Amino acid sequence: MSKGSFYFQTYGCQMNEHDSEIMAGLLADQGYTPTDQRDEADVIIINTCCIREKAEHKVLSLLGELRGQIEADPNKVVAVCGCMVQQEDIVPKIRKACPHVKLIIGTHNFHRIAEYIDRIRETNETICDIPTEELLIEEALPTMREYPFKAFVNITYGCNNYCTYCIVPYVRGKERSRDMVDILNEVRALVADGVKEITFLGQNVNSYGNDLDDPEAHFPGLLRAADQIEGLERIRFMTSHPKDLSQELIDVIADSRHICHYIHLPVQAGSSRILQRMNRRYTKDHYLALVEAIRKAMPEAALTTDIIVGFPGETEEDFQETLDLVERVGFDNAFAFAYSPRAGTPAEKMTNQIPLEEKKDRLARLNDLLAKWSLKKNQAYLGKTVKVLVDGVSKSNDRVLSGKTDTGKIVLFTGNEEAIGTLADVQVESAQTWILKGKRVK
Ligand code: SF4
Repeated sequence: MSKGSFYFQTYGCQMNEHDSEIMAGLLADQGYTPTDQRDEADVIIINTCCIREKAEHKVLSLLGELRGQIEADPNKVVAVCGCMVQQEDIVPKIRKACPHVKLIIGTHNFHRIAEYIDRIRETNETICDIPTEELLIEEALPTMREYPFKAFVNITYGCNNYCTYCIVPYVRGKERSRDMVDILNEVRALVADGVKEITFLGQNVNSYGNDLDDPEAHFPGLLRAADQIEGLERIRFMTSHPKDLSQELIDVIADSRHICHYIHLPVQAGSSRILQRMNRRYTKDHYLALVEAIRKAMPEAALTTDIIVGFPGETEEDFQETLDLVERVGFDNAFAFAYSPRAGTPAEKMTNQIPLEEKKDRLARLNDLLAKWSLKKNQAYLGKTVKVLVDGVSKSNDRVLSGKTDTGKIVLFTGNEEAIGTLADVQVESAQTWILKGKRVK
């Protein structure tokens, strides 16, 4: 018999999504059942993010919304976890504004969630457990995946880079790599379970293994070994730091059988002066040289990036350097954001913060350029036949399927749901800024 139902509200990146999948697996393993109806759930877990501005505001307002429900049904348990609660000032705020929150649990010990929820339901106590030290990596945790045919696999936790705008090293701790044997065993088990595509996750996958004694445990070596696993069709990874992207890694991807020719390589800014203020430890020229090396080895590879506009001290000339870099690289896609300060980071204290209006104006100009390149890149697919992994139906029409090429392009085509989870050949008939459309030919 089920112990009760649980519902996840997850904010933020794929690392957070995967943490939620593991927590869901742990709860299911302990006899709880998932529900997609928040109002009916016995346990509501909010997995928070603190990367974007307003994240705190969103979470506190959601907690306020839930207050009435909890007061009407005191057996309901609300739990808050994720990066936000690792920030020192947040826990007292949650406790003061939202006394109905029964569990607050950190990023280093979220694997204790089921045990804590059991305890709360038995004793009605309130638990707040936020370890500040990184704990040993827990292996072989059960996972409840969103898709049966694709899966995330963590390879590192935390980050040592301390980019001056970023809160991650403070809330996720120092970089820790998983043992390569454990990672590969997990991939083999996933493939045996029907998974066709895996995505290796880490804040900086390229520095995988730097903290391990095993000289063979580095990212190119891990990719090479994963590429040999029979039955695995596609390997993706996210995110790469330009300072650690080696020629060896580029060659491994180019020579592989299954590693997708798609690299997400966050540049953040085109001005070397701003890159230095961001503590990114590469220059514009270095980044452009990497792009040249990638294009030489894999002319058809897709490149995407992240860009911050309006970083403190960014002049119009610096911003023009970003536009110039975008024009020279021609990204397939990019996530562009206006800089917003994160409490506790060095950039928050920098002088020369850029006025909001100026940031918005730069962001709009950048987005126009990015959209132009995205369309141009998509138009290059017209008439070609591409292999897509079909991952679902289109949001607007359930007779239209949606899939992704190995280069990460979204392709829509007519078909039926039985194709979900398989690879299909689709001829591209039309190209829009963010999607391709076509017809299935095989
Ligand atoms: S590499 Fe920089 S931006 Fe990325 S998680 Fe680490 S500190 Fe943050």
